[in-house]
Amino acid sequence: MYFSMDEIGFENTEKIKSIASEADRWQFIYNVAKSYGFGGIHITPKLYKNEFRLDINNIPDYFQDFKLTLHFGGLYNRTADRDTFDVALAQCFEIATKNNMHDISLHPCQSVYGLSEDEKKSIYELFHKTIDKWLSIALKSTFSLSLETHVSGKYFLFDGLNDFVKFIDHYPGLGVLIDVSHNYYDGYSEDEIIKFLANKNVKGLHISDALQKLKGANFETGTHAAVGDGSVDFEKVLKGFAHIPNLYSALEIKASNEGVARSLKLLHEVHQRIV
Ligand SMILES: [Zn+2]
Repeated sequence: MYFSMDEIGFENTEKIKSIASEADRWQFIYNVAKSYGFGGIHITPKLYKNEFRLDINNIPDYFQDFKLTLHFGGLYNRTADRDTFDVALAQCFEIATKNNMHDISLHPCQSVYGLSEDEKKSIYELFHKTIDKWLSIALKSTFSLSLETHVSGKYFLFDGLNDFVKFIDHYPGLGVLIDVSHNYYDGYSEDEIIKFLANKNVKGLHISDALQKLKGANFETGTHAAVGDGSVDFEKVLKGFAHIPNLYSALEIKASNEGVARSLKLLHEVHQRIV
């Protein structure tokens, strides 16, 4: 298991906005990841494009110092069609190949709120077809294709981890990216997350602290928190997945620079205790 940078911390996010040249912004990202002590970088196109104004078609070669993964995230909504999926995924595959990335992760289709059962069914079929096609391409490549465990049925195609597992069981080659924060917030305990997923083809974790909805937490403050600011038992979680080779744990933490640094330090300590 290694730890990977996603968010860079609030102060760093502000600072990068004041850096004029794109080359200097890439160098800044590199320096930030090195100074935190990350072994990898988990690149989310939306964050890099909108916040950092970086073109991920041109990642500098020196980023090969890090293990790289691409978090394509949520493309899918009710207006998407097969061609939209294909164009976007073709682009991702090109970026992953060019930069020796070892995983591309996707969200299940989202924004299903308010759709009829028939509409959901047709999105489900479209998603199946897309995975059929792109997984077979990924399996011939040097990287994995993974699906994130977003299972809040109101927003995402899958309603609960049961439903998610039903889908991925059709695809033994498909990777799984576990969003610990979202699943915990939705009411799954650490033990349940492990029970549902530890024997699946897990490739990565999205790590951040969380509180449970059932105990009155709201989504904004109850997810993506710095480690120690919620109630997730990370010793349990990391232990449950520590046996997986080359597993990435990407810190999806929305916090100050200090919060990101503290989270990584605590996770390193936990990891050293359990291996
Ligand atoms: Zn996530």
